[in-house]
Amino acid sequence: MANQTIISQHPIPTKTWGKLKNALTGELLLPDSKGYDESRIIWNGMIDRKPACIIQCADVDDVVAAVNFGRKHEMLVAVKGGGHNAAGFAICDEGMVIDLSKMKGIEVDPTTQTAIAQPGVLWGEFDAATQEHGLAVTGGAVSTTGIAGLTLGGGVGWLMGKFGATCDNLLSAQLVTADGEVLQANPEENPDLFWAICGGGGNFGIVTCFKFQLHKLGPIIGGMVLHPMDKIEEMLKFFRSFTENAPDELTTYAFTMTSPDGMPMAGMALCYCGHDLEEGEKIIAPLRAFGPPLADMICPMPYLQQQSMLDATVPHGQFSYWKANQLDSLSDEAISTFKKQIPSVTSPRTMVLIEHHHGAINKVSPDATAFRQRKSPYDFIIISLWNQPDESDKHIKWTRNFFAAMKPFFSSGVYVNALHNDEGNDRVRAAYGDNYEKLRHIKQKYDPDNFFRWNNNIVP
Ligand SMILES: Cc1cc2nc3c(=O)[nH]c(=O)nc-3n(C[C@H](O)[C@H](O)[C@H](O)COP(=O)(O)OP(=O)(O)OC[C@H]3O[C@@H](n4cnc5c(N)ncnc54)[C@H](O)[C@@H]3O)c2cc1C
Repeated sequence: MANQTIISQHPIPTKTWGKLKNALTGELLLPDSKGYDESRIIWNGMIDRKPACIIQCADVDDVVAAVNFGRKHEMLVAVKGGGHNAAGFAICDEGMVIDLSKMKGIEVDPTTQTAIAQPGVLWGEFDAATQEHGLAVTGGAVSTTGIAGLTLGGGVGWLMGKFGATCDNLLSAQLVTADGEVLQANPEENPDLFWAICGGGGNFGIVTCFKFQLHKLGPIIGGMVLHPMDKIEEMLKFFRSFTENAPDELTTYAFTMTSPDGMPMAGMALCYCGHDLEEGEKIIAPLRAFGPPLADMICPMPYLQQQSMLDATVPHGQFSYWKANQLDSLSDEAISTFKKQIPSVTSPRTMVLIEHHHGAINKVSPDATAFRQRKSPYDFIIISLWNQPDESDKHIKWTRNFFAAMKPFFSSGVYVNALHNDEGNDRVRAAYGDNYEKLRHIKQKYDPDNFFRWNNNIVP
């Protein structure tokens, strides 16, 4: 180790690092430590940042020690939960990464139908633990996504029509604030903070424990149908009328992708989570009949199977660039623009999604939580994926062009967890709409110096 490392305003002497290391139950990783390079790898392979240190926290005391150290030395701080955020906010250059990925405690109480989980838990782990008791909560559609970043941004998934956004099911959280204090946030204790973390992201502190309300969930009907790409226009029109009449128990996404043998395809994936699967079969029958599809993979299945169905399409380490916005409707013009743009897709790994958001998630008032994007029925998301570093410009350009072409059809809102870090503060404001000013005031109270700023930042 060199005698000192310059990572903040002031050089940090070696013995100061030594003191920090001794104070931790977890690990302090410096650039020459074993495990440093593995720890800075996140889901998006395009992110190659080199922090001055990574603190792999083992418990709340480690998080407090890390926050206090970072504040004292005026370091830029990144917080890593599951490391899935496409913008790469889990890792920063030069500063400190507070890595929570080893904090994987999870306890399910079947009597109260609640779960307490630490911030390193991934959705696959959470769902496995809750499904053991026939319980679940709305979670991300890919099992390797972290519960922390997803819940703090709002959280959408297959169960949202029935059970609401993930944050709607958050009962309480424990946080370490910018001044190193440990606080509880729930409707009784620090209710303003609780309101803010239900959608406001990592702006207000580091959540070290989440308590969720769970719901009974047995097998569901899930899976997808695939169609040739030349059916895209017809399929999206069908998707529009099918979703307009969907009960809360049914969530459907339309998508485009390329098959492993290079065939461009359109498809619809769904999850019916009602108790009566026979009734569900009747409701989804028109979707299975449409076409008919090239492949029909819809069937009753355990919820865990549905929750990992998409994993292989978005593996760790791919280069990725996202653009997303909500749509107030899926007009014929929007569909026709989609149809015109999609054939020029530059990467066979890229997927474009239109998610249907309705039911419980849309019944909550937009100002009831910081998570505001509840009224638009569709979310349009371009997930560009590739694996050749020298192709990045081409794929990013295509993504931006497609996004620009769809702009006339966008509503004013965007889901904060789909923002890239090149989009600027206006887009963060768009994500929060009229909730932004209230968030700013709460930020002024809990983090006036903007210590937590390496995120979709609410500027105090
Ligand atoms: C393939 C893929 C599929 C996805 N599918 C869905 C989906 O179905 N539904 C959905 O809603 N979203 C989805 N997302 C988006 C996802 O919600 C965000 O990427 C989310 O940030 C991931 O959480 P994480 O903990 O893995 O992220 P990280 O990258 O670890 O963190 C993301 C942000 O949250 C902050 N953060 C993380 N943990 C904490 C904490 N404990 N306290 C305070 N701040 C914290 C970080 O600082 C960072 O700003 C998907 C993303 C990907 C890449």
